[in-house]
Amino acid sequence: MFGLADRPVAAQWQVTRWTADELARGSYSFVANGSGSDMCNTLARPEWGGRLCFAGEACCEERVQCVDGALVSGRRAAERAKALLAEQQERRQLPTPP
Ligand SMILES: Cc1cc2nc3c(=O)[nH]c(=O)nc-3n(C[C@H](O)[C@H](O)[C@H](O)COP(=O)(O)OP(=O)(O)OC[C@H]3O[C@@H](n4cnc5c(N)ncnc54)[C@H](O)[C@@H]3O)c2cc1C
Repeated sequence: MFGLADRPVAAQWQVTRWTADELARGSYSFVANGSGSDMCNTLARPEWGGRLCFAGEACCEERVQCVDGALVSGRRAAERAKALLAEQQERRQLPTPP
């Protein structure tokens, strides 16, 4: 959507398979000892000049761990992407400054 030049590279990641666990069938985040209440906002912070947005229950401070938190954070991320696209489109339509 935005082109892939200069895209950021993840420094660290972990893949889990909790959905394949027949006794769990999924997972959700938890606030680890030593983590602050700003964890969700830090996770949700867009990267790459706003072009890379994050969503999911872990990104929603008000409803962390819950389905509606995932929904709220998804809507926020979509709104951010939409605003950025509108901004880019507007910039393209404006005459170039002298
Ligand atoms: C046993 C259990 C009971 C729960 N009960 C409740 C409850 O009663 N009420 C409540 O509000 N919440 C409950 N939850 C929590 C709720 O399920 C989660 O908060 C919610 O599903 C989180 O949504 P999400 O979109 O953030 O993540 P997920 O639902 O985990 O969605 C992530 C999606 O990304 C996909 N994915 C992963 N990796 C990749 C990849 N590399 N490429 C493409 N796709 C990928 C996965 O397949 C998955 O579909 C429960 C969870 C569990 C495990």
